[in-house]
Amino acid sequence: MAMDDLGSRGSFIHEFINLDLGENLNKIHTRFPPEPNGYLHIGHAKSICFNFGLAEFYKGKCNLRFDDTNPAKESDEYVKAIIEDIKWLGFDWEDRLFYASDYFDIFYDCAVKLIKKNKAYVCDLSAEEIKNYRGSLNEPGKLSPYRNRSVEENLDLFEKMKAGEFPDGSKTLRAKIDMNSPNINMRDPVIYRIARITHHNTKDKWCIYPMYDFAHPLEDAIEKITHSICTMEFEDHRPLYNWFVNECEFQEKPRQIEFAKLQLSRTIMGKRYMKELVEKKEVDGWDDPRLVTISGMRRRGYTPEAIKNFCEKIGVSKANSIVDISLLEHCVRDDLKLKSKMVMAILKPLKVVLLNYPEGQKEKLIIENNPEREDMGTREVVFSREIFIERDDFLEEAPKKFNRLTCSQEVRLKGAYFIKCEKVIKDDNGNIIELHCVYDPETRSGSGFSGRKVKGTIQWVSANKFINVSVRIYDYLLKENGEKNPDTLEIINNCVAEKEIENAKLGDKFQFMRHGYFTLDKKYSSRENLVFNKIIGLKSSYK
Ligand code: ATP
Ligand code: MG
Repeated sequence: MAMDDLGSRGSFIHEFINLDLGENLNKIHTRFPPEPNGYLHIGHAKSICFNFGLAEFYKGKCNLRFDDTNPAKESDEYVKAIIEDIKWLGFDWEDRLFYASDYFDIFYDCAVKLIKKNKAYVCDLSAEEIKNYRGSLNEPGKLSPYRNRSVEENLDLFEKMKAGEFPDGSKTLRAKIDMNSPNINMRDPVIYRIARITHHNTKDKWCIYPMYDFAHPLEDAIEKITHSICTMEFEDHRPLYNWFVNECEFQEKPRQIEFAKLQLSRTIMGKRYMKELVEKKEVDGWDDPRLVTISGMRRRGYTPEAIKNFCEKIGVSKANSIVDISLLEHCVRDDLKLKSKMVMAILKPLKVVLLNYPEGQKEKLIIENNPEREDMGTREVVFSREIFIERDDFLEEAPKKFNRLTCSQEVRLKGAYFIKCEKVIKDDNGNIIELHCVYDPETRSGSGFSGRKVKGTIQWVSANKFINVSVRIYDYLLKENGEKNPDTLEIINNCVAEKEIENAKLGDKFQFMRHGYFTLDKKYSSRENLVFNKIIGLKSSYK
């Protein structure tokens, strides 16, 4: 297969896979291994797309496996949310949904095997002492005084650890490797700890739990994963990964390959940081539309296609870099542009009375649903003597570049007529509350009128046929300089919109003409009060 067919899928990884599997590329077996200690975010989406994508590309398999070996922070809520998110992205693990905790017996047997081979020992040093004995990059480690316990004594102590005979933290099981290794990960790492914590799956069956570095390679080997793809911070752990697979004598050895984590500008990523925002109520739950969690992006109105396209575009490499969030937005806009119906909505309404339009008269105008897609058809919009326009689309006196309505400048109403302002009505404080205008019946859209031109076309909504809606407009969580943005949500109530969107359903996407893309918010919206999230504005700053 030609490498340039692979696009941005990470050709260095394809090279390895080709080397390893040769003709048997369809034997590729990957996995996505989330720890259920938080919700998935766009970084996980990158890993999901890559792991499932590789399997799809080579017609192999990809498992979903919960890496649930640390019960302190894990829960069923997260398990459910993760499953929902990956399904929504459109990936299928068929019948291969696994839990690392289902392998606890096998891990235990592997540990016993290591002890019997004199490759693991029970150590009584405290966590603090283990850390001090480990040495540093320029200093070798010190041997634990418990390193030379006999195999029999170790077997006995390990069994007692499992049986709950020792207090939490009083003993560990450690791999016996090399305290002088230049790679600190190889300096007798801890492989089991004692912790009386109820596990979401195994409940109180275990009071000892395996460490990630020990469990993860075994999980991969048990599932016969061929390529274990993880992020760069595990590069230095790879020798240890291989050591465990070899010493536990698995015949089929998975290969670990690392790639760089996705980092995104202007937002907060990383489960730990997101969790903090959720707990401090700085955001409205894990699915807050301002978060780049998968559930947040879904609620905001991003589509799986846009997210997958973004993951494809950023590609996979070993070099860390920060991706500009505008690339993600560009992908969202690109996708919505062709999918969403364009309707007219006025966020800050100003009433306009058309003095020369007969009272009581109504006419049905035909407006296209998506100017870029004829196949999306047209709809009828009612025009009447009283309408709303956007407050910002009128200025009494305006600079030259203002292409909208002024006291001396006509404007076209979308799909309708030219109007001209005759009189500005103000309240006692001088605020504009209404405009009296006249329309030119000759200028109806589609009538072929070519008598004169206007500089701009604006949206409008009939005051005889509209619904009130609210919109929620979001800003980035971080300012350009990386500081927290204190002002990230603007709520506008009493907006008016075409009656057309009255029957909008959750998940429907609209372009509000000249405003951007919107979707119903699943939390705040009800039939009586439609609340829209602004998904994204119209213009891309992405070059
Ligand atoms: P976080 O850094 O947000 O806490 P994590 O790495 O602890 O995430 P896991 O549940 O352990 O989350 O990760 C599941 C998989 O997703 C791992 O293979 C991990 O490497 C990958 N992953 C996590 N964050 C990113 C990211 N930003 N970019 C790409 N892959 C990621
Ligand atoms: Mg983690």
